[in-house]
Amino acid sequence: MVGPARVRTLEVIYGFSDSERWSCRSGEFVSRTEQSRVFCLRVQHIPWFEGWRPLLRMASLDCRRADCQRHIQTVTLLIEFLSLFAIVVGAIVLVMLLTGLFFEIMNARHPERRIQKDRVNTRKWQELRQAPVSILTLTTCFVSGLFAQQQGWTIAPLELSWWSGPLMLLASVVLYDAWFYWVHRLLHRKPFYRFHALHHKSVAPTVWSNHHESFVEALLNQAYYALVVFVLPIPWQMLVLQKLYDQVSGMLGHAGYEHFASPAGRAPWPLASTVFHDQHHGTFRFNFGHTFSFWDRWMGTLHPRYDETLKTFEAADAAAPSQPQMGSERH
Ligand SMILES: [Zn+2]
Ligand SMILES: [Zn+2]
Repeated sequence: MVGPARVRTLEVIYGFSDSERWSCRSGEFVSRTEQSRVFCLRVQHIPWFEGWRPLLRMASLDCRRADCQRHIQTVTLLIEFLSLFAIVVGAIVLVMLLTGLFFEIMNARHPERRIQKDRVNTRKWQELRQAPVSILTLTTCFVSGLFAQQQGWTIAPLELSWWSGPLMLLASVVLYDAWFYWVHRLLHRKPFYRFHALHHKSVAPTVWSNHHESFVEALLNQAYYALVVFVLPIPWQMLVLQKLYDQVSGMLGHAGYEHFASPAGRAPWPLASTVFHDQHHGTFRFNFGHTFSFWDRWMGTLHPRYDETLKTFEAADAAAPSQPQMGSERH
């Protein structure tokens, strides 16, 4: 028997009346009114959230229309997509708040690690106002990729194993870095800069600047996640891990304080650092990459004093580093 709450859910979805009663027989939900043909939803396994399955199983339809099977499938897909969307939005907001809180505390405890010592950013709340647009856009792209893969519309992902997981994750991080670099270069070209100008209003970035971006900029950057599943057989768990990394590292890059200075962030190593992206905001002309600095090194867009500036932060009690020439504050 179907509980009252679930009947209400069905009523909302399909407009069922109170008089309709439903029971489960042989794995299918069958209407007690004999004249009705009822289709049972073939709900696919949803690996990331088992909890919705009962609801989806319940969503059977009293079918009187020829196209009702297709209608059921469409509604099922929509419910699955929206379920995943809600979970991802919740997770992103949670990670954003926890990461932001972590860096606010770290920044307060280590004022000497401030990168642009001559600038104060008072735009935190303005930056946060754009977060809903950014988060909804990136979630749409990310969930689209994940969902397409789960439905089998993409190339088949590799089975997750000790070698396929790390390999696909690394490949995807390298691919995304290239994507980000060239999209970023494009956004700095005159016809496209208007979509990127909002992000650059913060010349001295804060941890909240990560989501201070226009809809078009978010869409261009995050379209990667909707497309990569069509070219890379990455297991969905690794895509989730990459998104988590992307979220945390994006905020780290805007923290405004260099907490994790390390030789791995400068030549001859390929990793970037907080100083790396901070210099991008400060100068507008250098350091377009995301995780790695090698695209900037190859293309000649690395800030000429990047390596030496990062080095000044490597001592535990770093003294004030020598600052590169920053651009003028813009509002
Ligand atoms: Zn930029
Ligand atoms: Zn930025």
